[in-house]
Amino acid sequence: MSKILFISSEAFPLIKTGGLGDVAGSLPTALLKQSQNVRLLLPAYPEVLYKIKEKKIRASTSFYNQPVDIVETRLPGTQLRVWLVDCPSVYHRPGGPYIDERGHPWHDNALRFAIFCHTAVAIAMNQFKLKWQPDVVHCNDWQTGLVPALLSLQKKRPATVFTIHNLAYQGLFDQQTFDDLQLPEQLWHMDGLEFHNQLSFIKGGLAYADRITTVSPTYAEEICQPEMGYGLDGLLSYRKQKLSGILNGVNEKYWNPGTDFHLVQKYNQKSLNKKSLNKTALQEEFLFDVDASIPMIGMVSRLVEQKGLDIILQALPRLLSMPLQLVILGTGDLHFEMLLSEIAQHYPDRFKVVIGYNELLAHKIEAASDIYLMPSTFEPCGLNQLYSLRYGTLPIVTPVGGLADTVINASDKNIKNKSANGFVLKEHSLTALLNSIHHALELYAQADTWRQLQVNAMNCDHSWGKSAHQYIKLYQQAITDNPA
Ligand code: ADP
Repeated sequence: MSKILFISSEAFPLIKTGGLGDVAGSLPTALLKQSQNVRLLLPAYPEVLYKIKEKKIRASTSFYNQPVDIVETRLPGTQLRVWLVDCPSVYHRPGGPYIDERGHPWHDNALRFAIFCHTAVAIAMNQFKLKWQPDVVHCNDWQTGLVPALLSLQKKRPATVFTIHNLAYQGLFDQQTFDDLQLPEQLWHMDGLEFHNQLSFIKGGLAYADRITTVSPTYAEEICQPEMGYGLDGLLSYRKQKLSGILNGVNEKYWNPGTDFHLVQKYNQKSLNKKSLNKTALQEEFLFDVDASIPMIGMVSRLVEQKGLDIILQALPRLLSMPLQLVILGTGDLHFEMLLSEIAQHYPDRFKVVIGYNELLAHKIEAASDIYLMPSTFEPCGLNQLYSLRYGTLPIVTPVGGLADTVINASDKNIKNKSANGFVLKEHSLTALLNSIHHALELYAQADTWRQLQVNAMNCDHSWGKSAHQYIKLYQQAITDNPA
């Protein structure tokens, strides 16, 4: 049994903006179930403090003259102990974890997450005498990147693991910020935190962690190439021996069509015919034609370029002339939000766009749709295609990252050998997308084949237990690698 300090800037159900929140809300609990001794460290945003019931201050300190309390609580509905980094001056404000109410990154994000990282290092080095010192510190994304860097300067430190959930977000700040944060001078060089004269938080993880992981084997390969490496491919290739990919899982407590309390009608493999009641309910809600035989395509996503909105927008005129219904839920770039909403106004009977973050509607769309659209330009792992598989909603995806690792194209051969569970575009292009949609609609019209594809999809094992087992092995390797 290892003691693991799991550090994340978000964790469902306390706070979530994307996949990282899902992972941090699931993996630590899955590790706990496999007898690991885990603590989750999270900033105490107002939304988090509002949601927790019990809380106890375990230690107090200050960084950069800002008072910090470590508040102990539990992740709602679990036994997992959570330590909240409560620093009111930087976290107690309206807005999101990373952006303000107008959608701009917080002006002091470097300070906000430096405080988070310093607190993590102090816990890791047992400076608060909490009677608990980790063997492994598991960091996630740039917000935690300073932790492996700072720990690398310590004697007798825990091992460090750094997981990349999305290399596109790196935490880049100017050199002055490095000076203002009074970070150790020996970390400022091209093999350290410096990235073309800028301070790179993520490089702290990539350069100094004992082990690096990302959230799918294919993405682990892709980020070592210039096209997807954001200039960090050289460093990642150099550290390739220490880099691996472990797929994310599905949290069965929240994403199981057999028990999902958000649904009008629960269902499983054996009662798949009941799935369409979720479709007719959503058709009624959105004032579409109510007819279970009309194929429904769904999408729940951040509305950013990564998610393939360029080709979706190009495909819309053709798509909306087909006999289908389309539902998109998301928030993100203003111009995508406006374009989609504008187009939807012209097709009120078949195209619904809901702008906003809506957990309930996300579940309803997964259950109601027949087909799920996810033609991302890149996708580290992707969770919605996994949820779609679980809900018998066949995903249409590009052959990148975790999508390539989890979706098996409905080719004749794969249909025959019962491995097919979705549709994989030949490439990221409009033609490929339209071809795959046509293919999906053709198969949708063949009820028996479609049913078999749904069963194949629902039978895929993407449980967190499986992934947690791989992380536990990795922690052991990190402990062995730790030179301190
Ligand atoms: P990413 O982390 O790149 O946003 P993932 O597919 O890994 O993409 O994870 C996205 C998670 O966020 C999923 O759980 C998805 O359901 C959820 N999500 C994204 N946008 C919304 C939204 N507008 N409303 C509700 N849930 C959303």
